[in-house]
Amino acid sequence: MSSPVEREPLLRVEGLTKAFGGIRAVDELNLAVAAGELRCLIGPNGAGKSTLFSLLSGIHQPDAGRIVFKGEDITELSPFRRVRKGICLKFQTTRIYRGLMVGENLTIARGKVRGTNGRLEWALGVLGLAGETARPAGELSHSHQQWLEICLALATEPELLLLDEPTAGMTPEETALTADFVIKLSGQGVTILVVEHDMAFVRHIARGVTVLHYGRVFADGTLEEIEANHEVRRIYLGEQ
Ligand code: ADP
Ligand code: MG
Repeated sequence: MSSPVEREPLLRVEGLTKAFGGIRAVDELNLAVAAGELRCLIGPNGAGKSTLFSLLSGIHQPDAGRIVFKGEDITELSPFRRVRKGICLKFQTTRIYRGLMVGENLTIARGKVRGTNGRLEWALGVLGLAGETARPAGELSHSHQQWLEICLALATEPELLLLDEPTAGMTPEETALTADFVIKLSGQGVTILVVEHDMAFVRHIARGVTVLHYGRVFADGTLEEIEANHEVRRIYLGEQ
């Protein structure tokens, strides 16, 4: 029999609520993510996906509810302490230092982490950044800047990686490469939650899908279940 600690999901969110003015961006949201999961988060614009990530990473404080990571209540922890605990967010908008070299951006992201980071080296290679460390980050192509963002997140050695629209503005080929990369990263044991509008990406990933709507979980299931769900098609996939 497994102990209660083993049964505890990596991430558990209970009754999480965040309002901006009169709008409940995240509304009594409950969510559990098991260690090793790769899950896509979809939903209409304004559904609260980015706000959920801001709450998980500590950028915003919730009005109510709690966030439990590895059995510990982290609701009150600062963003920095959460990164130390193993949660890292790749923002929807790029946060790289454009005037600094790629390598300098990586050094800053690593902070006090010492020694070699094999996963980071691997990622830089796969994403075509290994030879670019002496280049100003602002000179990279759009997709390479997005990939650098993912590498900056990996530099912190996360257990839970939150990716907010990682393929925004990418070509279909770049989107497919990103999806392959995310699948491989998941295969290495990193737990990944990824917000994505691009259904080609979500289908390529083809794992569990959670649909957010008005700040709540609207549906949850396999890709097949979600695509067959008429209510989801109505609110999100654009069917009449
Ligand atoms: P999504 O990422 O699913 O498109 P968001 O989480 O960005 O949705 O937004 C959810 C709702 O919260 C929207 O109505 C949005 O306008 C509002 N919102 C998000 N962030 C802020 C903020 N910093 N200030 C005010 N309103 C916000
Ligand atoms: Mg968003």
